[in-house]
Amino acid sequence: MFSRNTKKRTRFSDFLSGDYARDYIYQDIPYTGQIDRAAKLLSEADYVLLGAGAGMSTAAGAEYGGRFFEENFAEFQKIYGKGPYMQDMYSAGFYPFPDQESKWGYWAHQALLAGIDLDVTPLHKTLLDALTGKKLFLLSTNADHQFEKAGLPAEKIFQTQGSYRLIQCKRGCHPKTYDAEALFRQMEHDRVNGRIPHELVPKCPVCGGEMTMNLRVDDHFVEDENWHDAEERFGCFLSECKDKKTVLLELGVGFNTPTIIRFPFEKLVREHENITLIRLSRSKAMVPAGLGDRAVGINADMAQSIEDIASKLR
Ligand SMILES: [Zn+2]
Repeated sequence: MFSRNTKKRTRFSDFLSGDYARDYIYQDIPYTGQIDRAAKLLSEADYVLLGAGAGMSTAAGAEYGGRFFEENFAEFQKIYGKGPYMQDMYSAGFYPFPDQESKWGYWAHQALLAGIDLDVTPLHKTLLDALTGKKLFLLSTNADHQFEKAGLPAEKIFQTQGSYRLIQCKRGCHPKTYDAEALFRQMEHDRVNGRIPHELVPKCPVCGGEMTMNLRVDDHFVEDENWHDAEERFGCFLSECKDKKTVLLELGVGFNTPTIIRFPFEKLVREHENITLIRLSRSKAMVPAGLGDRAVGINADMAQSIEDIASKLR
């Protein structure tokens, strides 16, 4: 084993700390005042660390349930019934599919619709345009690559929870992932009544066992070489920005996995006077009162908030 480069960097495991704040408040200054404050913080910043959760993709127009699911997953609802699972792409992923042909029939379809072919990037582009000239990095729990599609270079992105493009050994027997885009397109093309042909079912090239999506759902999630490289670049960015004028711009992060972005962001602001937090969320933009005016929590339609902040920065 070669040792990784020893450039000064913050370890991801050290970043992943922080706890539920006991002093959360919804700020009560008027919306326009909040937008002004957010725009001012961003205009004065040299570094912006973006933290994106599912709410960012939703605000940009990605759909997962409701009529979208009825229209695009009717084939699966017909086979499996609507039940508790076939309601939206999140729940459906937990359906106990009867065999591998059925499992991949479903997952290839979701990987294409929710990730590989998804393009809701106009809002992402608006934001990136508004941040031109800033040193940027993105920490994201989304697997849909939307910021990358909007033009943010891949080397400035750390997608911690996996990717809709990749598959891995289900048991995680070896630390590699495999690009499955072409395979998914073939599966999508050849699927009949929810099932793909047996010969398209992927097998682990090492142990011969089942494969699964490279999405973090259990302890077998594979963190491959690209994941570790991204982690290292994130750590370097963090070390570099810690004593600079830095804004943590949190986008649509709720309480599903608050330990990855929300809590660590709050801790960074608590511990570094030069770091400020802008939290955008449709309903969960509460911020710790203790952060005072170094935190702005804008609880509103995020697409609108981003447009409004961007127009102030132009
Ligand atoms: Zn294996």
